[in-house]
Amino acid sequence: MSEVLVVVDAVDGAIRKPTLELLALAKKLGDPSAVYFGANDSAVTDKLKAYGAEKIYVVDDAEIKGYLVAPKAEALQQLVEQASPTAVLVVSSYEGKEIAGRLAIKIDSGVITDAVDIEDGGVATQSVFAGNFTVKGKVTKGTPIITVKPNSASPEETAGAGTVEEFAATISDAAKTAKIVASQPRKATGRPELTEAAIVVSGGRGTGGDFDAVEGLADALGAAVGASRAAVDSGWKPHSFQVGQTGKTVSPQLYVANGISGAIQHRAGMQTSKTIVAVNKDEEAPIFELVDFGVVGDLHKVLPAVTDEVTKRK
Ligand code: FAD
Repeated sequence: MSEVLVVVDAVDGAIRKPTLELLALAKKLGDPSAVYFGANDSAVTDKLKAYGAEKIYVVDDAEIKGYLVAPKAEALQQLVEQASPTAVLVVSSYEGKEIAGRLAIKIDSGVITDAVDIEDGGVATQSVFAGNFTVKGKVTKGTPIITVKPNSASPEETAGAGTVEEFAATISDAAKTAKIVASQPRKATGRPELTEAAIVVSGGRGTGGDFDAVEGLADALGAAVGASRAAVDSGWKPHSFQVGQTGKTVSPQLYVANGISGAIQHRAGMQTSKTIVAVNKDEEAPIFELVDFGVVGDLHKVLPAVTDEVTKRK
């Protein structure tokens, strides 16, 4: 079988979960080969191997580390020319999509962004128009490049051969156009990242700006906290918390919407969650059309009671 390149999304050597999801999807298309930009570190390569990487290309280059996306796209172009993969899979992050676009131009290929599934044969599924249409598409020119949304597949802990190969890329001056001048890790909240969390507890205008009950439940469940746009526009939470069409797309195992009416633009960011629970004091709220479980009540009373119960059962 031929190789499928999976571009590793990692921060300071910590591989993010969406990469492990891509390795699982890549197996449908061929043999997963991870491409890691960073030092040859066994903690990294062992993990990629454990989740199915047959081969791991380590690209350790100061020129790549010091600059934004362009040098990575150039290195990938050279790797694609060497390995002739069946496809290149990239996480649908801002950086991932820029890498995909730049690479597509360089290798004269088609690109599909924000896929939520990939079938054998390279047919990618996208969820468009706020989740109202599902589109299946296939790249017809060159090596397909597909960016995949986080939480679109489950990581599979099935070891691959994990052969490590150092790849020396040649980075041109033309690619060194945007230098990193400072980088700061996200402020540690102790909570999982919103798009990667298995459980998301969100609050909307119905919180009245008091997120204590929402955050209490989130912490009891080990969940991330999300917010509707109304809550963000009111200044109660920063935009990085927003779930929806103009915010983040989440697809956790469990999504708990509290004081959120269920506008189409909010649904666009959460309706693919596996189980949806809503707490809303209005039994006519549209969110109840898509829930698995609904509670009609005041979130400030319901959530502390649920939090107590969850804490008791731990
Ligand atoms: P509301 O619609 O005001 O609903 C509040 C709910 O809280 C009500 O159902 C009420 O019954 C309930 N409630 C009140 N008090 C309590 C209580 N004590 N206990 C329990 N329930 C209570 N929205 C997003 O969320 N994400 C987006 O990305 C997004 N993008 C948009 C893009 C565009 C172009 C546009 C036009 C809109 C977008 N919106 C987005 C806004 C969207 O249309 C809604 O206005 C927004 O989602 C409403 O937020 P909400 O549900 O918190 O507020």
